[in-house]
Amino acid sequence: MRGLANIGYIQVVRHCNHFCGFCSNPTSPYHHTFETMAALVDDLVGRGYFGVVLTGGEPTLHPELPRIARYARDAGLHVRMITNGWRLADAALAEELADAGLELVHVSIYSVRPEVEAELRGVEGTLERAHAALANAGRFGITANVNCVINRLNADHLDENVKVLVARHPHIRHFVWNNLDPSMGRAEVNQARFTPRLADFELSLSRALRFLHKAGRTFRVERVPLCYMTDFAWASTETRKIIKGEERVVHFLDAKQTVRQTDWGHLYAEGCDVCSLRRVCGGLFDRGGAYDPAELAPVFVPMDPIVEQVIQDASDPSYPLRTLAEWRPDFERRWAEAGEAAERTARADADDPSAMRDPDAPPVGLVSPDSLRRFARTRAAEARRAERQNIALEREPSADGAGE
Ligand code: SF4
Repeated sequence: MRGLANIGYIQVVRHCNHFCGFCSNPTSPYHHTFETMAALVDDLVGRGYFGVVLTGGEPTLHPELPRIARYARDAGLHVRMITNGWRLADAALAEELADAGLELVHVSIYSVRPEVEAELRGVEGTLERAHAALANAGRFGITANVNCVINRLNADHLDENVKVLVARHPHIRHFVWNNLDPSMGRAEVNQARFTPRLADFELSLSRALRFLHKAGRTFRVERVPLCYMTDFAWASTETRKIIKGEERVVHFLDAKQTVRQTDWGHLYAEGCDVCSLRRVCGGLFDRGGAYDPAELAPVFVPMDPIVEQVIQDASDPSYPLRTLAEWRPDFERRWAEAGEAAERTARADADDPSAMRDPDAPPVGLVSPDSLRRFARTRAAEARRAERQNIALEREPSADGAGE
């Protein structure tokens, strides 16, 4: 049985008006027309998905964004977007997207300290525009969440971030953290500068989660092992998906094409074998080799209350097995089917997108002489920016997706 709340991702563009040193999805030679995006919306509808996240690059840079949002809404999908907020700071665009059916926007803010945000974004003035985007979302009835990539430069003040954001935007009810994915794009080649140690953010994340919980806000945290968020294990994205048996499709606008993820376990250390949360924990995100399994430490807390918090979450009415007695046989069946994968302590291809490629999905985007020329121009300009900012430019993409 699959949960009914599966969400798919469509990268509508891959260029961006910011230049983050840890961008994991930088410019690619592919581009989308309305028709190629519509085919991917149809694909998600055909899979019985609940919603779509329009993402990038920076999705607001695609001129057909409102049209594809409307198309997805009319097809019955819950329409969401992840944005840096720069263009959403313009009220006219926020209103147009709201009219087109955009229901939820994740505005990404890494730090409420302007100098840190500017250093991470590679552009001045982004923070105030992100604040304006959050205000515009509220004004036009779009639910606003805040997304944050945990990295070395913000690891010590995640709690300060949420306190400022809640005070300034009381309408924001939900926060999402993604620990840095150090395996792709510029994140891969700038690991030493941006990848945090788990211990770097443990305290500030814990303070942030406690503050939000007390303030009646909800949150999710991805790519953080449960031993670093034990008190709020139910908020782990991987844990929730493991418990509910959910999947995720990402239509990458590059050579990776469509990736369907059904296995939420990453890498486990030897100590995980005795950990009470092992079977519902995503472990350590290991692609890119930047995190250290020696940072993991088993915990000994009961698992069932965590499971109950997930399956009995009233804000998530789509999951049908509401009691442990109903849930357990389904979970045991899935665990047995996963077999060796679920039992692994180390696996060479864990999290390898090419191993998760869905060969039956429609083609994602197009490469044309025009898009290749644009790509070459963008890359040359970005090489100059990278040099000015003293960061490394991502590896040139190859036909098999390596380096993207
Ligand atoms: S010790 Fe391993 S299984 Fe336990 S919480 Fe940490 S990463 Fe997860």
